[in-house]
Amino acid sequence: MTILNGKETSNKIKEEIAEEVAEIKARGEKVPHLAAVLVGNDGASLTYVGSKVRSCNRIGFESTLKHLPEETTEEELLTLVNALNQDPEIDGYIVQLPLPKHIDEQKVLMAVDPEKDVDGFHPTNFGKMALDMESFIPATPFGIMELLKRYKVKTEGKHAVVIGRSNIVGRPMSILLSRKGAGANATVTLTHSRTKDIKAITLQADIIVSALGVPGFLKEDMVKDGAVIIDVGITRVPDTSRERGYYITGDVAYDEVSKKASYITPVPGGVGPMTIAMLLQNTLLARKRKLTSGN
Ligand code: NAP
Repeated sequence: MTILNGKETSNKIKEEIAEEVAEIKARGEKVPHLAAVLVGNDGASLTYVGSKVRSCNRIGFESTLKHLPEETTEEELLTLVNALNQDPEIDGYIVQLPLPKHIDEQKVLMAVDPEKDVDGFHPTNFGKMALDMESFIPATPFGIMELLKRYKVKTEGKHAVVIGRSNIVGRPMSILLSRKGAGANATVTLTHSRTKDIKAITLQADIIVSALGVPGFLKEDMVKDGAVIIDVGITRVPDTSRERGYYITGDVAYDEVSKKASYITPVPGGVGPMTIAMLLQNTLLARKRKLTSGN
């Protein structure tokens, strides 16, 4: 069994990006600039955004954090989104999800300029991805594809089962794995909460991508020998014995499933760090595109 080490791989990717940034700097050009918008004080969101900003600083990107109070109105947020769209200094930005309930998430994501949409959530980018056109690919599925590629995990002709059909993980994952071309070419089954007898389906899988957010959901008896297991789930489980008051766990019952798997991602240290690396990759791409378009 091989552990798909997302931490190590993401560090490697960040080093590669840092080298490119150093070259950009040496040529006297503007370095990539990522902005992050955070509304409210959700603990997990604060952690994610903090780590995105720190990663930017480490690899030589410029970064800007726009932290707005919980009671920010939809209109105020849309005004900020519009300002970021217009700001020539910003190459790409993300609006950290989830947004407070009184704000229409879809309306906000639709307002992001697709050219700066480094999360790849805008319908223009999502549509282009589905049509095999160049686009910003959502960072989590992009990170999983990159991890599989770097570990030379074969996907062609394999049966991949994706659990979860969210717009940010499950659905784009199913599209990317089923794409025509090297590193994809899988036969994909997309499952969700209404799927009947999910175990009968996962037992046929050569590759399982679990993205539902239910700790320990994928058990040993749901997995065939030699399967590749990608655990996207991140759940904070309250635990008063720990200093921070919780621990993080994935969707996969790791101890039992890892005995059967050929490859497996740990949580933490698997898909999570890859997500950040690919967000940085998308931001570098955004900068390069602006450069070729003369901005
Ligand atoms: P989401 O929007 O809540 O979607 C969950 C999906 O799982 C839905 O499609 C849902 O089905 C399905 N589902 C729920 N219970 C199920 C069950 N018992 N059997 C089968 N399917 C079930 O979640 P998400 O945003 O995709 O995130 C999923 C997990 O990944 C979360 O733990 C999240 O924290 C984590 N995540 C990690 C990263 C990372 O970087 N590692 C990034 C993003 C998310 P329905 O559609 O029928 O409701």
